[in-house]
Parts: sequence; C-alpha cells; structure tokens
Amino acid sequence: MKATVFHEHGGPEVLSYEDIATPTIESNQVLIKVKYTALNHLDLFVRRGIAGLKLEMPHILGSDISGEIVEIGSNVSNSLEIGQKIIVDPGVSCGVCEFCIRGQESLCSSYGIIGEHYRGGYAEYLNVDAQNIVPIPKESGLDMAGAAAMPLTLMTAWRLLITKAQVNVGDDVLIIGIGGGVALAGLQIAKAAGARVIVTSSSDKKLDKARILGADECINHNETPEYHKEIYRLTKNRGVDIVVDSVGQATWSRSLKSLRKGGKLVTCGATSGPNAETNVNLLFWKQLEILGSTMGSRDELRTALKLVWNGTIRPTVDRILPLSRAQEAHEILEEGAQMGKLVLKP
Ligand SMILES: [Zn+2]
Repeated sequence: MKATVFHEHGGPEVLSYEDIATPTIESNQVLIKVKYTALNHLDLFVRRGIAGLKLEMPHILGSDISGEIVEIGSNVSNSLEIGQKIIVDPGVSCGVCEFCIRGQESLCSSYGIIGEHYRGGYAEYLNVDAQNIVPIPKESGLDMAGAAAMPLTLMTAWRLLITKAQVNVGDDVLIIGIGGGVALAGLQIAKAAGARVIVTSSSDKKLDKARILGADECINHNETPEYHKEIYRLTKNRGVDIVVDSVGQATWSRSLKSLRKGGKLVTCGATSGPNAETNVNLLFWKQLEILGSTMGSRDELRTALKLVWNGTIRPTVDRILPLSRAQEAHEILEEGAQMGKLVLKP
C-alpha cells in the first residue's frame, strides 16, 4: 500500500511517500480502508520528536481518520459490518486499570494515541482494535472528509469545556487563538451549551469565519494586544467565567487577568511555549482555578459526536490535499495559515 512515513525525526522534508506492506489484523481488530486523515499539531510534534517517545521506524502519523471497514477479525463480536463507514477513536488504553474502569481512559498510565504511539492514518489501510471503531450513523449526512476532521479535537474540547470547566448557560467564555481545531470545536460546544463566546486571533479572516460559526465578540490581538482590557469592557469589569488558553507562554498572564473572581482557565497545550508566568497573588486573591486536560474518554467522544451527527457541531475543513503532498500540509500547519482542518486523502 501507499503511505507517507518517516524514517527519522526532523522537518517536513523527512516525510516520504512510499510503498510499504499492508497491515494484517489480529482477531480483535478490523482493517480500515482510510478515506481521509486530518492533521493535528500533534503530528508536527511527533515528526520533530518528543522527549521520551521511542518509535518503531518507519513511523506513520495520523490520529484523525475516517474510512470504511474492509476486514473483520474472528473475535470481533459486535455489530460491525464490511463496508460500514466509520471514524477511529484515537485513544488507546489498557482497559483494566482503576481509571479505565471508571471510564477515565485519558488518565490511564499506559494511555497512547493512534498516530503518536501507534501507526496512524497517513496510509491507504490501517488495522485498529474493534473497540476504537465508531460507526457513522447513516442519517448523519456527514461527508467523510468532515468526519476525519472531528475526533481528536472534538473529544479534547469536550473534556475541556464540559467535563473540566463545566460551562453553563449564560457563561462568558474566552477562547484564545481561534483557528485551531480545539478552539473551533470549543467555540461550537460553548455556543451549544448556551454561553456567550469571545474569541481572539491575529487574523481578521479567522475572526470573520469564527463569527459565522457563532462567535459573539471577536478581538484582533495584534490590534488590541492588551485584550484583557477589552474583556473588562465587554463584561462590564466583571471578567469572563472561563478562558480556554492552549497558546501558553505568550498569552497566559493576560488570560489569567481576563477571568472573573472564581473563574477557570483550562488548557490542553502550549503552542507558544510551556514556561508561562502565573501571578500567585492573582491566583489566590481572585480564587482562580487552572485546569489541565488531555484528549478525552471513549464516553466523552461518543457523547460529543451526538452533536456532530445532528448537525449542531460542524467540522471546519480548510482544504484537502492528496496524501503524497503531506509535506506541504505540514508546512501550512507550521505557519498556522489554516482555518480549520488540513485533510489528506490517500
Ligand atoms: Zn488503563
């Protein structure tokens, strides 16, 4: 089969479109013909190399996958069918530890991600455990490229806003850096929950698209670098209930200042760097909460997907490129020039 692999870590140039052996399945697995695979920032981190992450080379990236079942293992007892259209739940966990039993799979000590710890979807075929298969309901009408654009960012944004921040009707939610997948899913989840959503970006084009997706207020943080002051104006000096900040270092202190007393900052990343400064006086005096989150559970993904199936949350696809042009897709993502998901087609 054709796949885009890398044999060593490095820049986009290490990605190589090659012929490799088609995977075979274990008895508890199914074989997927990959229709589309969407990029995440995670792909860039894994390609460059993550400290402590040892990969079997060549590695295949790709955590967000839509496809069709072409083979089913002998011990797969559920109702999966050949030809069924599916998406892949990218989380892999042990299934037996205290966290997995509680349905908190992303806390499992052996938690891994397809495309990061295991070979992923930059390929024509992929073998996946049956428990990672999520059938796409026939009535959903969702196209397969859009389906690939959903799982990882949707489950992450759902856990951040619903499980961790417990967003409520009437809350003011500030989302820093609209344009990334988690931010866009977060915007739609917060709107569905009945919140007022304020977003920031350095790009007016991204802010315009965010407005179409339901953003109530848009701040260009190049024109308004002290955006926390604009937040005070918009909230009549109260501050917002929740800030979603996965930018990190560059925005962290302004995000903390934007919160109301007792407000929550939730984060699932630090794209500008991890060493952010926290004013401890501000933290205790305003009784703020800082909550970290990674990925989500099987249950969180399936619950969130109900809003995708019924059309409440819509995938945002920036563009679709052939798998052979994965290098170019990585360069676009490195520049942050995309609005929504970059999707590859094998
Ligand atoms: Zn576990």
